[in-house]
Amino acid sequence: MFNSLRNRLITFYLAVVILGFGGLTLWSSNQIMASTITDFGNSLQIQALSVGGRLGEAMEYNPQGAAGILQETADNVGGEATLFNRSGQLQDSTSQTPLALVQTDSFVLQQDGSRTSQIIASAPVGEEGEINGYIQINVPRSIPAATARQRLLALWAVFATFSLLGISATYWLITSVTRPLEDLQQTALTMAGGDLSQRVADPSPDEIGDVGRAFNTMAEQVENIVADQRAFASNASHELRTPLTTIRLRTEMMLHDDLNEETKSEFVEEIDSEVKRMSGLVDDLLLLSRIDAKRLSAGTEQIDGVRLIQQLTAKLQPKAAGKNITLSLDSALGQCPITANLNHAETVFRNVVENGIKYTPEGGRVSINLTQTKEKFQVAVTDTGEGITAEDLPNIGKRFFRADRAHSRKVAGTGLGLALVVSILELYDGTLDVKSDGKGKGATFEVSWPL
Ligand code: ADP
Repeated sequence: MFNSLRNRLITFYLAVVILGFGGLTLWSSNQIMASTITDFGNSLQIQALSVGGRLGEAMEYNPQGAAGILQETADNVGGEATLFNRSGQLQDSTSQTPLALVQTDSFVLQQDGSRTSQIIASAPVGEEGEINGYIQINVPRSIPAATARQRLLALWAVFATFSLLGISATYWLITSVTRPLEDLQQTALTMAGGDLSQRVADPSPDEIGDVGRAFNTMAEQVENIVADQRAFASNASHELRTPLTTIRLRTEMMLHDDLNEETKSEFVEEIDSEVKRMSGLVDDLLLLSRIDAKRLSAGTEQIDGVRLIQQLTAKLQPKAAGKNITLSLDSALGQCPITANLNHAETVFRNVVENGIKYTPEGGRVSINLTQTKEKFQVAVTDTGEGITAEDLPNIGKRFFRADRAHSRKVAGTGLGLALVVSILELYDGTLDVKSDGKGKGATFEVSWPL
């Protein structure tokens, strides 16, 4: 039962209300009862004193009037009035069974065996200090107690109303905390069951709502990551299936058809190039998955960036020349040391320069420009090639993305090269910036490598 937050809070609240407020109300009740009886007793004493004065006069000038004053007094207070002589002997009383004289300066509370508790007040009868007798007034305690009970009833009604209001408010408050938590739990369980589109509905604008919003953001991310991974797996299988189909077709033909030597060697070359393509793809996939799993860390070798690009340009010259493309390197830098793993740096720069050559038609130009700032080494590769539409620009660097799929089938590739570039650069806190004025207007790929 106490495992539930709601039960714990309600129990805690009830304990506070009942023990705290209840105790306070009980204590106040006793105080009210005692003070009502004291007030009543004091006023009875004052009455006794004033009646004592009046009786003194009456006994002197009109002894018959005394009985009337006694009766009037008894009626006024709702009790009994008794007159005693100077030596305390009973003179007259409104009661059949009058109480004996209790000589006192202030009222007393007395329990008589045959009656309920009585409040008794007595005072001397006489004028100017002369004592001719005593007047005693007694009233059952139940009379002021009934008045006190009226007040207590009001107090307990207030206590009950506030307790009920308090309990309702607490219940509302607790529910406003626990209900969103239950919703959150339900959403998490539904997501755990496989429905990743579930979200916490209408999170409130308070702190609990913040948890719901944070959960929704996380759910969004998880859903996107899973969708990306599914697309990645399906793209990867698709990319591997295409060369495999070609290889299977060629091997079947070689096994079953009677082919001449020339066709056979053409097929073997085709198979060889598909196998190379596949192994390149698998290498890229493995590297990407190692980066994703954070199993690849940034290298710490000191490499001269300028020399690296010079060597790369030299290596790629034949490829550019094959397409009659002018590949030029423009650099005012003598050298620029960067911290990296040589393979990582080579993969990044080779992919970008190779793409420039790949996506530039015959007779075009690819120029590499090197600059250095305080914080980074920058390599800008500008080509006069096919360019990139504004719509495709944000997708460049996403895994398996190839602009203009139908057209790009003619240009060999997998759509993983730049994804790899982006992932490696992330490892080094570097960036890839792509600019193009649109289709047919060339493109600039700028790599910034932190120093
Ligand atoms: P791949 O070259 O194997 O297709 P990349 O990841 O290297 O894969 O490139 C992704 C896509 O980006 C390419 O298919 C191409 O559409 C576009 N692209 C890359 N470099 C250039 C460039 N220099 N000019 C125009 N488009 C480019």
